[in-house]
Amino acid sequence: MSRTRMLIAAVLVVGAVLGSAYALGRLLGTADDRQRPTAAGSPSAPPTSRPALPSPTATARPGDPEVPGTPRRLGPERGGPYGARITTGSAQLALTFDDGPDPRYTPQTLALLRRYGVKATFCLVGVNVRAHPELVRAIAADGHALCNHSWAHDVGLGSRSGATILTDLARTNQAIRAAVPGASIAYFRQPGGAWTPSVVTAARKLNMTSLHWTVDPRDWTRPGAGRITGTVTSSVFPGAIVLLHDAGGDRQGTVNALRAVLPNLTRRFRLAALPTDVPRAQPSSAQPAQAPGGPLAGPSDDTPAHPPAHS
Ligand SMILES: [Zn+2]
Repeated sequence: MSRTRMLIAAVLVVGAVLGSAYALGRLLGTADDRQRPTAAGSPSAPPTSRPALPSPTATARPGDPEVPGTPRRLGPERGGPYGARITTGSAQLALTFDDGPDPRYTPQTLALLRRYGVKATFCLVGVNVRAHPELVRAIAADGHALCNHSWAHDVGLGSRSGATILTDLARTNQAIRAAVPGASIAYFRQPGGAWTPSVVTAARKLNMTSLHWTVDPRDWTRPGAGRITGTVTSSVFPGAIVLLHDAGGDRQGTVNALRAVLPNLTRRFRLAALPTDVPRAQPSSAQPAQAPGGPLAGPSDDTPAHPPAHS
């Protein structure tokens, strides 16, 4: 791929992240979340906040001497908000699927992953786990990693009290383990990527690594399988974590994209579920300016979402 095309891809991805968080943040409110707890795509933000993380992509890292868009491998958990993981820590690529399980799309997703021999990571919403425990069992039975995505996809969770956050995350883990006794749940992903120190701390208390992402094709905006495929295949690099959704709305475009994404990526990379046995490498104190990632962790960009206007 030419440098020009790489640059274009970089701009598209950065734009996607900026636009997605803002757009979905405007679409969703507390009441809406309650009615459609799975409708919120991860790249959302609290309604009154700006995007929680403007540039967690593979590209355009401020201060990076390389040309924006140049594929590179980042260190493990480098640069995520408050120490959240944004790369796999190895050359392996990780696909992550948020907001499920969903009886329409999760089985299709699992079948495609099985066909290509790919293990992925599923970030599960508690209410959906409770509604479809058999799908959680199917995910675990196929060897995918499990991730806690909060009880009801509350994008404002990080601004609530520590006790409330802990209760929410623990309740979600309980539901997952009610479906899959003894399940390992090594990761937590904050809905909307609206990380705060409190939510990262709560996750750590429950032995979960906070999990962000590197590549976001904004599949939840239903751009079509072709665009999802194009963004993912042109943006990934060794170690990247790709954000996708198998629930939260019409995700047939994502499923269809997988039919092209999976053969492409499996030719170029080794895909794997995120490791569940790694030490918790997050900073001991959730200070954004102290985060090891440098540019991306800077407070100017990664200040957590402002207290959302949840009523
Ligand atoms: Zn989500």
